[in-house]
Amino acid sequence: MSETTPNSSAPNWPAIAAVLGVLFVTCALVYGLTQNATLTVAGAIGAGMSLLIGWWLGADATNSLVASQNPMGQHMSRKSAVEEGEQGRDEAASLVRDAVRFARAAIEATPNPVLIVDSAGRLVGTNQAARDRFSMDAGQVRFSAVIRRPNLVDAVSDVFKTGATRTLSIESRVPVDRYERVSIAAFEADEERFVLLSIQDETEARMSERMRADFLANASHELRTPLAGIIGFIETLRGPARDDAVARDRFLEIMHLQADRMSRLISDLLSLSRIELNEHVAPTARSDFAAAVQEIVESLPPDKQQRIQFKAGDDPLWVIGDWDEIQQIAANLIDNALKYGGPQSDVRIILSAWLDRESALKSAMREWEGASRLPLTSPEVDRDRLYCTLRVEDAGPGIARQHLPRLSERFYRVEETATGKSGTGLGLAIVKHIVNRHRGGLVVESEQGRGTAFSVYLPQPLELGPVRTMAETQAG
Ligand code: ADP
Repeated sequence: MSETTPNSSAPNWPAIAAVLGVLFVTCALVYGLTQNATLTVAGAIGAGMSLLIGWWLGADATNSLVASQNPMGQHMSRKSAVEEGEQGRDEAASLVRDAVRFARAAIEATPNPVLIVDSAGRLVGTNQAARDRFSMDAGQVRFSAVIRRPNLVDAVSDVFKTGATRTLSIESRVPVDRYERVSIAAFEADEERFVLLSIQDETEARMSERMRADFLANASHELRTPLAGIIGFIETLRGPARDDAVARDRFLEIMHLQADRMSRLISDLLSLSRIELNEHVAPTARSDFAAAVQEIVESLPPDKQQRIQFKAGDDPLWVIGDWDEIQQIAANLIDNALKYGGPQSDVRIILSAWLDRESALKSAMREWEGASRLPLTSPEVDRDRLYCTLRVEDAGPGIARQHLPRLSERFYRVEETATGKSGTGLGLAIVKHIVNRHRGGLVVESEQGRGTAFSVYLPQPLELGPVRTMAETQAG
């Protein structure tokens, strides 16, 4: 430990004067209160002794701390006691500050969300990952106001009481499925107990597990029927229809359709699984929704293009989204409108931009007065967000009200509209999952005899908004 001897230095006159001053004041006080000379002398000696011992211990303790951690400690021991005491205290405080700064920086750099709670339930530390995960400000103070999960709050108070480390799995469904593992551990600092929560995102692992299981279950179930059909036709062609040229051509045509359906099923199932796997990771790219829709329309055969009413404006309509995925939304909705609207029905495509949530919903599904309407998926409320809406309307037979809630369920097909039309029943499910990943909304509005409209609305990047464009125009 330290070789410091605070009393080996030269007399410290200011300290001695202070001690004598305190002795004098103590004598006066004790005599004034007790009028007793013996008590006065005893009180004065006691006060003086404790002052001296306190002063000596304080200097020694601080110097010991500094000397034990700092190679400069030995050099310091040759200085005067008071100087050493003050400098030691300063250096000790600066060491503590450095340690705190280091710990803060390390926690801030941790990629997993980390939260530190004190015994009064206050959040005394969070890193950027935690602030992003729980959309909170650095100034948020109550732990229970940030994490409103009774089992987690209970686990934290349990760890406070017992000091034993715990791990807990938590699942969230809104805005998208998310699986997390929380490790909760207690630690002591400054004679106080704190609890540290570290959160590990396990969504990807859980989703890929679920994806594999779903894919196998769906593929084997859905492929069984067309496969059985193909096997049946092969057997007929090898047996009774061996020499029947007309039957052979007809059967080959049906087998071709079945094989086509199987290949579409596999590709739709694969896209659905891929999107579900990434659903918890919102896209960050910027894409021009109008250009994406335009490209899809132009890729259609000319007879279909003629049925489409769509005119993209000159300005880009930016959304926060992946180009390929927003094109898939447009392709699936336009394909359905052309298919289920019937050969005579025109398809109208309307894009509206920079709408708040209320206006986006209104423009998406409040166009036809007598229609039934339903949101199939909605984003979390965020007042600062603005949305771009794509509405695809057909003038087909419409969909009866009771079917609306089940649209976008995988493999759900409405018999009245889907009979005789090829399809996998996965198109709207794919649209819904892409929209969820983009933190947007999907709604349907339909009136029998009038038509059906599916709309999606996706968040727009405010930094590319019309306000900025105007400002830039003025500046230019
Ligand atoms: P698919 O078209 O492959 O069957 P979807 O998921 O795209 O699968 O659509 C599910 C069902 O919803 C369709 O089978 C059809 O019954 C109904 N549907 C979708 N779009 C329309 C539309 N525009 N008009 C009428 N019915 C529709």
